[in-house]
Amino acid sequence: MRALLVNPLFPETYWSQCHALPFVRRRCLLPPLGLITVAAMLPRSWELELVDLNVEPLSDGQIQAADVVMLTGMLAQYPSVHDVLARCRRLGVRSIIGGPYATSLPERLADADHIVIGEVEELLDDLVADLEAGRAGRVYREGDKPDLSRAPVPRYDLLRTGAYHHMSLQFSRGCPFACEFCDVVAMFGRRPRTKSSTQVMAELESIRKTGFCGDVFFVDDNFIGNKRLVRQLLPQIADWRQQTRAPLTFYTEASINLSRDEALADEMVRAGFTAAFVGIETPSESALKESGKLQNAGLDLVGSVHRLLRQGLDVWGGFILGFDEEGDDIFDRMIRFVQQSAIPYAMVGLLQAMPNTPLYRRMEREGRLQGLPVVRGDQFGCTNFLTRLDPRTMLDGYKHVLESLYSPSVYFERCIRNLEKWIPSRSSRRRYTIAELSGAFRSLIGQGKSSGYRKSYREFIRWVLTHQPSKLGKALAQAIVGHHLITYTWETVLPSLERRIADLSTGPALGLAPVVFRDEPAVLTSDRPAGRPSAST
Ligand code: SF4
Repeated sequence: MRALLVNPLFPETYWSQCHALPFVRRRCLLPPLGLITVAAMLPRSWELELVDLNVEPLSDGQIQAADVVMLTGMLAQYPSVHDVLARCRRLGVRSIIGGPYATSLPERLADADHIVIGEVEELLDDLVADLEAGRAGRVYREGDKPDLSRAPVPRYDLLRTGAYHHMSLQFSRGCPFACEFCDVVAMFGRRPRTKSSTQVMAELESIRKTGFCGDVFFVDDNFIGNKRLVRQLLPQIADWRQQTRAPLTFYTEASINLSRDEALADEMVRAGFTAAFVGIETPSESALKESGKLQNAGLDLVGSVHRLLRQGLDVWGGFILGFDEEGDDIFDRMIRFVQQSAIPYAMVGLLQAMPNTPLYRRMEREGRLQGLPVVRGDQFGCTNFLTRLDPRTMLDGYKHVLESLYSPSVYFERCIRNLEKWIPSRSSRRRYTIAELSGAFRSLIGQGKSSGYRKSYREFIRWVLTHQPSKLGKALAQAIVGHHLITYTWETVLPSLERRIADLSTGPALGLAPVVFRDEPAVLTSDRPAGRPSAST
């Protein structure tokens, strides 16, 4: 059997870093970890080819040469998912899709031959046997949650590693918390399941053998979901790094309670972790309680971030607007909050009611979805439900927040605050890669000489050279990522918000919810009407 594994295209978003990647001559930020994990579980007798559309094009010939095309996809990838599925249909090649999009909205995948809903590990043997016997069914649904301690080492050897800026690896799935808006619990459960330390070490070794140097993202939903097992893992990573002198450093996602466990944060830094993405969400205590984000409630969130910075862990923050408990003062509060936190990479999005979440069910009960379950997978442009604040206030306020936070001078001011507070640790250092060094050079020439914000950039670099010269490497990385954040905000997000605001003035009073994108696939179940009129794009 010949299987073609396809990772569909990611659109431009805050996460894609597409304006920053050219500095380091990379095509894509992260590899398709799910696909290379599936690849490792397929029979050895199968011939495998991997095509990541974020890295290279996919030809009709490649599709036709396959017996089966296996796709993954997140919600944000849906246009490309449907494009690939349509090509498979046209060329008469069988298609299978799994991953978050298929799990959340399988009813939108009428164009796929087979759908895997949920985690694939426990049902892959059946699927393979059915495919080989020519009797594969339409839907394969996860039964019990898979035991990760039996997961194989992903096939890193299938990747064109030179195309990716970072590598990725997974230690655990699931999160013990229960934030109302989060779909992690629905997809992966509240009891974190983990791989063994031995498995993680084998995966790290496999990454090292590809010759990759740089940052490895532990893609866990919440890396510290099971602190006991994390504590067992970290010293082994630290020893391995020391013994192999592997030029790898790590970052991950973690809940803010990490800031209350100084010893654990220290151990992470000793093991080579340099940063964590933390869902900070909102300065509004009542909104935190409303959303069940109780681990953040009652904390000095700004102080917590600063504590982690002093320990050597940089913090990237997720922030959300659109909670019921927020008043119209939330926008200025959010700007102050983010600036005080000293988080340069502050992802401020609008709240989304993701399918299968408690928030989605509440919005449905309250009639605030207006019968429309559309989620685009990118929270930087619209909500998919009616917010308490009226749509005009919401969009104007959101625009004001983004204009402020991603005005170049304000962004670089945040970087300066971050560099003042961040105390790097010797143990989490590694040598710079050639891509990073040449990226730094391109930053100095490109951003310093010809960018529209060169004055702010130069002032920033001057400040670093004067006050924190040893942190120049990190400062240049912040500037490069900042180029993406600033460019994407001003060239894409703000014009799109302005169009939506204009639509509110001229169009029917549909609020924020009924945003349907023109290439939206038909929704098949009867309670989910297809083809709503577009209010915006
Ligand atoms: S802590 Fe993060 S991963 Fe866990 S439920 Fe909340 S938002 Fe989801």
